[in-house]
Amino acid sequence: MKLHEYRSKQLFSQHGIPIPRGRVAMTAREAKLIAQELGGRVVIKAQVLVGGRGKAGGIRLVDSPEEAEEVATHVLGMQVKGLPVRRILVDEAATIKSEIYLSVTNDRNKQCPVIIASAEGGVDIEEVARTKPEKIVRVHVDPLLGMRQYQARQLAASIELSRECWQEFGNIVWGLYQTFVDTDATLAEINPLVISENNRLLAIDGKMIIDDNALFRRPELAEMRDLEEEKPAEREARRFGLSFVKLDGNIGCMVNGAGLAMATMDVIKLFGGEPANFLDIGGGAGADKVAAAFNLILKDEGVRAVLINIFGGITRCDEVARGILAALKEVEGTLPMVVRLVGTNEDQGRHMLRNANMVVATSLGDAAQKAIQLSTEGQST
Ligand code: GDP
Ligand code: MN
Repeated sequence: MKLHEYRSKQLFSQHGIPIPRGRVAMTAREAKLIAQELGGRVVIKAQVLVGGRGKAGGIRLVDSPEEAEEVATHVLGMQVKGLPVRRILVDEAATIKSEIYLSVTNDRNKQCPVIIASAEGGVDIEEVARTKPEKIVRVHVDPLLGMRQYQARQLAASIELSRECWQEFGNIVWGLYQTFVDTDATLAEINPLVISENNRLLAIDGKMIIDDNALFRRPELAEMRDLEEEKPAEREARRFGLSFVKLDGNIGCMVNGAGLAMATMDVIKLFGGEPANFLDIGGGAGADKVAAAFNLILKDEGVRAVLINIFGGITRCDEVARGILAALKEVEGTLPMVVRLVGTNEDQGRHMLRNANMVVATSLGDAAQKAIQLSTEGQST
């Protein structure tokens, strides 16, 4: 779950990280009042859950409350990368000498958190990562020992931070690491952490992603989910406990098990097709869950054929087949469907599905090829 900038910065602030004074507004009039309170020179920031708002015109510096109102009207009416701006953050404008990048995330290969820093932070950090990877430095943290103060000094030295900022930088790295741990985040990022004219540090942008699997024990964070910003399909999937990621291809996939879902997508690609989604319905899914999964797939207008790949272990294949048939009665619309069903009572299960006019495949490779074939046939008619 992504958090808005203003939420992220509030969490940072609670962990001792300096952030600009500011508040959220939903109307231009409010923005003007906040700008008055803050002394006029403010930055108006679109609160949408995508990066690169600055380049898209969603971050605007203004010099007076009147200008704040005018610009706020404009920003509140705009879309940033297709997302309508419903809220803006009005922050006291910072004077910037330079911009640092600082984040904490998990290094999956090393199986531990990693703190990443760069002296060349700001809106072009992706470009820096591509063209000057040596400008991005990392220290790994032993999750059992926790972060050590020397690690912040290591980072400070590596990014050649001026000595007088080390103390403050150390506190910020510490605060960011604690924020990361305390919220079960998978990312806590400050970009940029700015150095002001008088060499003070200030986190002017914040981004956090909270691990969805930890939200059950972080109810105060779960409440921060911005439903308006989520795609309807993602919302539906969460409601039914499905892991769903929409992709750009035309073969809808319905699979039980994340690993099997990945393998299914790989095999589709191997034979030259493109999956329309990743979808894991999980083990022991009942007919209602299967129906919800079908609905998600069928609502995607790009889908031309569906590949159902089920391994019936604990749940027997005839049960699965019954579930699929029951679910199909509930969903609207239809598409060519290919099924690969393997496991306990597979013969019975296949028989039931064949009788219902589904294409039953013998292997995953066979299923992928049949689905690809059906998806192209659909296009020419
Ligand atoms: P992003 O584009 O979504 O990452 O939004 P940011 O909040 O990071 O803003 C983008 C850029 O706008 C920053 O890297 C800064 O260069 C600039 N910016 C943002 N806030 C301020 C501010 O208060 N003062 C100044 N001078 N520049 C700012
Ligand atoms: Mn930024």
